[in-house]
Amino acid sequence: MMMNAREYEESLRKLDLVVYMFGRRVENPVDDPIIRPSMNAVAKTYEMAHDPAFSEIMTARSHLNGKTINRFTHIHQGTDDLVKKTKMGRLLGAHTGCCFQRCVGMDALNALSIVTFDIDQKFDTEYHRRFLKYLAYVQENDLTCDGAMTDPKGDRGLPPHKQPDPDMFLRVVKETGDGIVVRGAKAHQTGAVNSHEIIVMPTIAMREADRDYAVAFALPSDAIGITYIMGRQSCDTRKVESDLMDTGNPVFGGHEALVVFDDVFVPWERVFLFREYEFAGPLVERFAAYHRQSYACKSGVGDVLIGAAQTIAEYNGVQNASHVKDKIIEMNHLNETLFCGSLACAAEGKQTPCGTFCVDTLLANVSKQNVTRFPYEIARLAQDIAGGLMVTLPSAADFKSPEVGKWLEKYYRGNPGVSTENRFRILRLIENITLGAAAVGYLTESMHGAGSPQAQRIMIARQACVPEKQALAKKLCGISDR
Ligand code: SF4
Ligand code: FE
Repeated sequence: MMMNAREYEESLRKLDLVVYMFGRRVENPVDDPIIRPSMNAVAKTYEMAHDPAFSEIMTARSHLNGKTINRFTHIHQGTDDLVKKTKMGRLLGAHTGCCFQRCVGMDALNALSIVTFDIDQKFDTEYHRRFLKYLAYVQENDLTCDGAMTDPKGDRGLPPHKQPDPDMFLRVVKETGDGIVVRGAKAHQTGAVNSHEIIVMPTIAMREADRDYAVAFALPSDAIGITYIMGRQSCDTRKVESDLMDTGNPVFGGHEALVVFDDVFVPWERVFLFREYEFAGPLVERFAAYHRQSYACKSGVGDVLIGAAQTIAEYNGVQNASHVKDKIIEMNHLNETLFCGSLACAAEGKQTPCGTFCVDTLLANVSKQNVTRFPYEIARLAQDIAGGLMVTLPSAADFKSPEVGKWLEKYYRGNPGVSTENRFRILRLIENITLGAAAVGYLTESMHGAGSPQAQRIMIARQACVPEKQALAKKLCGISDR
């Protein structure tokens, strides 16, 4: 049954998560002022699924039982589903102005649907049956899953089994009749403490010596032995100030956490890969391709930033300057190019042996490579249009001060038809997305999320079929290699 936003919030309250932030245990993450905006962003994925205006994009028919489910729990049954996934990412980015976190779990489920089937084909194992049972549970309860891939990795020049500290990649430390015991950590986990479930996957391709590191499984997020340590974000403590206007986006945000697994037990029913090391690489590649498509979210945040840039241009009275108009055009051009890439890899998706549709890998990597660049340029143009006031603006408290408020009101007025407060608000939003808390998602996560730029370049090199292109060129100009 699909949850609504309120039911989602209540479901999180039932979890007993071990969360640390600023050196202290957070007893109630749901109501913590720094974490809550990130919960609100995930809640939007539940709220919008119930809105008839968005249900076509936000919901799907389960291929397991035909029931209507939230698209974030869906296994893609055609390119139409993949295209809708891209549109869903843009839609939610535009409605939250930040990372809404729920895509990682969707991408993990889809990647596992493919790879569990493939392992069974080769080894006669039963991972796919386990996976489908788990998927039914996730769909039935409309759960948010954290897709946990990135290990701390230690010395980047060494494989997992050669690390001086063997826990730098998450590994199996014990095998029992009932299941396995795992130890390690996953870094940069988007939305971790807003998740009901955590789906763990390996982070790199592996060889036989690394077989204890080749493991995939799912756990309830509050399983015994899991600890969350919240990452800091630029300007995060503005969220605990009395006046939230200085945050720029008071309602929504994202979060990341380090997730530590201190000898955590996983029952066999929830293990989806165990020592079949040759499938670690394919799982990483499938997940990465799906998640690189997911970065359509950035075109949604880009919509907000373009809207903010046009608005501040009007508030500053420069909206008719030809260079400002041209900068807005450039921002749109870049932003729509991001959207094109995500749409293209979806439209060119293909069915895999288990039935799940996967995006085109080359196009997904090209798309994500653009994401590592264009948001920075869009942000640069937004800052160009906004002007320096965005970073020298006094606090909301000063604007409300009986002593100095009148001066800020007087000297920070732009277009006389616009209140100083509105000018203040839009500048803070641009600051939030390009320098503040949401810049984590819009900029640095665009760079490194779903793999750093070099990871995409390796895939582009592998998939681009340059010899075929050489053959075309040689044929046209009459070169024969014979
Ligand atoms: Fe989803 Fe985008 Fe956040 Fe990744 S960065 S979890 S794709 S919203
Ligand atoms: Fe991400």
